[in-house]
Amino acid sequence: MRVAIIGCGPTGLFLGAALARRGHEVTAVDRDGGPAPDGTWARRGVMQFHHAHGVRPQVGEALLAEIPEAYAAWEAAGAEPITFVLPDGRGVRGGMRSRRETFERALRQTVTGEPGLQLRQGHVDEVLVRDGRAVGLRVDGAEMPADLVIDASGRTGRVTRDLRPEPAVYGDTGVAYVDRQYRLLPGAEPGPMTNPLAWQADLDGYQVIVFLHEDGIFSVLIVRPVEVTELAGLRHEAAFEAACRAIPGLAAWTDPARAEPITPVLAGGRLINRYQGQARPEGLVLVGDAVCTTTPMFGRGLATSMMQARELLRLVDEAGGPPDRDAFEAWCDVTMRPWVDDHVRTDATMRHLWDGGALDLDAPLPAVMILAAAEQDPEIRPALGPYLGMIKGPDSLADVEERARAVYRSGWSPTLDEGPDRRELCAIVQWALAPV
Ligand SMILES: Cc1cc2nc3c(=O)[nH]c(=O)nc-3n(C[C@H](O)[C@H](O)[C@H](O)COP(=O)(O)OP(=O)(O)OC[C@H]3O[C@@H](n4cnc5c(N)ncnc54)[C@H](O)[C@@H]3O)c2cc1C
Repeated sequence: MRVAIIGCGPTGLFLGAALARRGHEVTAVDRDGGPAPDGTWARRGVMQFHHAHGVRPQVGEALLAEIPEAYAAWEAAGAEPITFVLPDGRGVRGGMRSRRETFERALRQTVTGEPGLQLRQGHVDEVLVRDGRAVGLRVDGAEMPADLVIDASGRTGRVTRDLRPEPAVYGDTGVAYVDRQYRLLPGAEPGPMTNPLAWQADLDGYQVIVFLHEDGIFSVLIVRPVEVTELAGLRHEAAFEAACRAIPGLAAWTDPARAEPITPVLAGGRLINRYQGQARPEGLVLVGDAVCTTTPMFGRGLATSMMQARELLRLVDEAGGPPDRDAFEAWCDVTMRPWVDDHVRTDATMRHLWDGGALDLDAPLPAVMILAAAEQDPEIRPALGPYLGMIKGPDSLADVEERARAVYRSGWSPTLDEGPDRRELCAIVQWALAPV
């Protein structure tokens, strides 16, 4: 089967190599030609490439199952596997400490030259459709025929926009990223950690996270509500560093005696929760971020992309050719959409609480509030593991939702972490940016 893939991001590269290894003739097209000869990789058009990422275990598992050399290359590039130890002493895979860039470089480097896979630089202008069926791509004006077209063009891909139904779920998360990468100085120990992957603090009206990556590199992330425009000033180094000094956990991590910045401050754009059904023409399949995107600080995008890619491969194997697209869509409806729905609920609740509102105890509780209530009611805890590991979806928390509701009805609320509240943070930004 001739396969044309739009996009050589993680989804396109992974699927391209896995399909080529099954004997299919694959061409993956991306306007980005990969790292420059001097090794730099601007990755224009993929805003998140340099932003903070946490990597869940599904990503490593997908590589080990299909392209184990890419996993080895990733580890050789410094990525550090994490093992969680369960209460019964068993260890389970807990994700990777790695920058997104390190992961994508290792994957790209491994699949470049893969027999049966051609990585082609070019802009996909449109999907060629004849008699209701996708029959290839137009790339930089020239036709490229295919038996199966895969749209792995990511969260901002437009090529198949006119061929898709309206997204079933679409909503602004209401938050934006401001982050910066640092490196621990030789011999310095990491700062405080909430779990083996990250340190997280929930403050009054915003959130901060430190993602520990490979080789002592870490990202400091401030998640700011977009409607508080004063906080957009955090993109300026003086304001970002002043905020880091004022938030105790960040002050510990970014102490000049412990670490030094290795990138400028990076400000992200709009972040959308979106779930997209499949496009109309037969022979065209959407996968990865083209299907769903969720609030990124929960670190699900690479995992959901790999889960989808593996399901698609299973359907290709089953059919011995183009997969049953309706079956893939049905699987996504059941397995992917609940994550997006839960993020929509979570974001609405977080924004409401950040604005000083009260938790609506008559509405369904988002997963994040059920998780928080486990601090108070240990009976909730056994339900959390499968959800946190994305082995079960948000619906798996339904059995403990009433217990969580009872916790909140008792008047309990999660303790906020130490640091300036949102109003004080705005004042810090203003002060840091005031002309001297
Ligand atoms: C700020 C932010 C932080 C995130 N943090 C995390 C995290 O912590 N953990 C996590 O797991 N996930 C995270 N994600 C999500 C993760 O980055 C995505 O899930 C992942 O990039 C999806 O990969 P993809 O290959 O589907 O799409 P992409 O990586 O977007 O790749 C799509 C590719 O298609 C190409 N393309 C598009 N249109 C065309 C065209 N017409 N012609 C040619 N090429 C085209 C683009 O150039 C691009 O290379 C985050 C996302 C954001 C926005």
